[in-house]
Amino acid sequence: MGDDSPYRKLRVLPHLDHAYPWLDGDILESFADRFASVMCDASEKPFAENIRLTAQYVEKVKSRVVVEGPVDEIFESGSRDKNEPTSVEQAQRFLSETGVDILVPNVGTEHRATGSKVNYQSDQARKISAAVGKILCLHGTSSVAPADLPKLPADGFVKINVYTTLAVAGGQAVARKVLNNLGNIFTSEQIDEMILRGILGSKALSAEGTQTQPPVKPKLACVANPPRRDVWFAAVRDRCLDFLEVFNYYRFAQ
Ligand SMILES: [Zn+2]
Repeated sequence: MGDDSPYRKLRVLPHLDHAYPWLDGDILESFADRFASVMCDASEKPFAENIRLTAQYVEKVKSRVVVEGPVDEIFESGSRDKNEPTSVEQAQRFLSETGVDILVPNVGTEHRATGSKVNYQSDQARKISAAVGKILCLHGTSSVAPADLPKLPADGFVKINVYTTLAVAGGQAVARKVLNNLGNIFTSEQIDEMILRGILGSKALSAEGTQTQPPVKPKLACVANPPRRDVWFAAVRDRCLDFLEVFNYYRFAQ
């Protein structure tokens, strides 16, 4: 952060996530010095090819950047592929043949999971980290049940990747803001029409639960972008604070 930045107290470590060596080779190689860490992701290839491509990349950028490599694919939520966890043997072989710094195992989590929780396999993560060291990174952390989150450091994870739950928190906060302000966003004719069509209930503007300020009409402060941005930001920030608290880093947020 520059001296004039409001965030100058932060030390930001840029990370390049899910970079595919056959598509993103240019960025992976020529920007290696600009990133703190990169994820060289060849996990969609067969295991031996994944190892070969990852090892080739590590060889090229050795000691210039921290390299994270996935042993296995982390599936998308709802994928019909079989979600087999990484074995200890696979993890050991991947580490010794590629030389990555951070290893991503598949331990049951999923990318982009917004619904029911998946089965995070704490025991398997422990077996893997006992064999390769506490150098694991968890992808799909949004899909981990809250009760399992505090286990992650002891299970061997030194890095977690979180996105989906932040997007859900932000998106829902914006939706709530809009619902509470319908009478500050639409005209009364538009509201009446939506009540008539059954889209809204007759209590859409009732005093309890909504923030509508009379008269009912669009008010610039409620239709412009800043209120949506601010409510989204606050919700995402609070979700980030939840994670910092779980991992005992809360004081870094103050
Ligand atoms: Zn990921």
